Amino acid sequence: MATLEEEHQALLQFLYLAPVGLAQLKMDGEIVMINPLSAQLLMPLSRDGNLNNLFTALETIAPELRHLCASFNEPYGMICDAARLQVNAGIPGKSDPQMLSLTLLKLDAARLMAVISDVSLQVKRERQLQQHEAWLNAILQGMTDYALVPLNSDGGIEQWNESIERVSGLDAAGVYNRSYSIFFPEGAATKEGLADRLHEADQNGWSLQEGYCRRADGTRFWASTLITPLRIRGDNTAFTGALHVDLPEDHSYCLVIRDINEKREASESRRKALLCDHLTGVANRRAFFDAAELELSRMKRSPRPLSLVLFDADSFKSINDRYGHPVGDAVLRHFALMLQETFRQVDIVARIGGEEFAVILPSTSMPEAFAAAERLRAAVEASWVEIDGLRIAYTVSGGIVSADANVSSLDELIKRADAALYEAKEAGRNRIRTWHPGQARRLNMVMP
Ligand code: GH3
Ligand code: MG
Ligand code: MG
Repeated sequence: MATLEEEHQALLQFLYLAPVGLAQLKMDGEIVMINPLSAQLLMPLSRDGNLNNLFTALETIAPELRHLCASFNEPYGMICDAARLQVNAGIPGKSDPQMLSLTLLKLDAARLMAVISDVSLQVKRERQLQQHEAWLNAILQGMTDYALVPLNSDGGIEQWNESIERVSGLDAAGVYNRSYSIFFPEGAATKEGLADRLHEADQNGWSLQEGYCRRADGTRFWASTLITPLRIRGDNTAFTGALHVDLPEDHSYCLVIRDINEKREASESRRKALLCDHLTGVANRRAFFDAAELELSRMKRSPRPLSLVLFDADSFKSINDRYGHPVGDAVLRHFALMLQETFRQVDIVARIGGEEFAVILPSTSMPEAFAAAERLRAAVEASWVEIDGLRIAYTVSGGIVSADANVSSLDELIKRADAALYEAKEAGRNRIRTWHPGQARRLNMVMP
């Protein structure tokens, strides 16, 4: 008997302290038992200051309740589930609308249970969220030259929106669960390069680059791509009882692709003059040094292979002497074209001297660089330049070096590649040589 009494007390205690409003009613709405939170929520609605009947108390904001219960024919069950009742509409800019949530359960033929809570804050948040969504949609609809792409922590595309299709032509099926590399021309971005940009965004707050992007139909356009990390602000620990639990950080990025093709076309000639070699159209010496320094610093930050090839046309002086300077120029243009056709888009082909070219190969080991250089050498050997009815054949030599932890500067790297090139020339030209420490003693001879 004592235990029953204790249990009853415990239940009352629970009702009293429950963080939601609870009330037990008769079928006509008469309140039999009510906890303080219910009373607190309902009291302001009562006209006469009495809280005898729930239906009466809610008459003005939910007049249909009485009928709803009366017409509920099941022996027990849910009469309404989290129905939202608007207490007042609030005053725009001053106070928020007040909203109650009401759940009514029929326990048996004579008893109802009501669960009441104040959901004003939740409703406010929902409205804010809807507003933000509408706002974002308006932006996405209104932007014509921009694509906003949400990325996950690995650079995977999780959502599609119209702006993506407008700029890239890719539909939802085309982007979903793919890497953001799909926006770049094939071969224009390495896996490491893509990961680097996310890393850079984390470090600096953003990563901005200009370069070609690719449309679904395969055409290219010049674009600026901006990646920013999206950090969900706030406390990242949950408090469960005595335990602090670290919640996983919601780590994602926003990629903004801006089509600046037109802008680029306007500044193209200026850019070309600055960074392109006027004779062959490949990168010039200055662009080469800028790009090489950048690659070298990237390599130092996250170690990976990086190779450099120096090419030099063989006995070029004699071509000039025999056919004249303009023919020599045509040969150089041909050489540049062969280089561009042989190497990938991520590789940087540059003319760094009269008949000397350099290629930077990011994320490429020495054997891989050797294979590519050898392919170029063989292709040049097998081809010829047709000019003024003449067929002029020529050959090239190459020296390769791969950067490692011991190479501290670009200058050092170039000296080594040059030593390897020198060895190729010495060995009879029309061949590729890789740098090895045995060449070190020649360094000073080659490049005083
Ligand atoms: P090696 O096989 O040792 O490299 O012999 P090479 O004759 O190629 O080397 P060398 O350095 O003796 O001669 C390079 C020649 O390239 C001399 C120069 O007149 C020519 N040259 C440099 N720039 C240009 C250019 O822009 N156009 C043309 N047509 N010739 C150039
Ligand atoms: Mg030379
Ligand atoms: Mg030469």
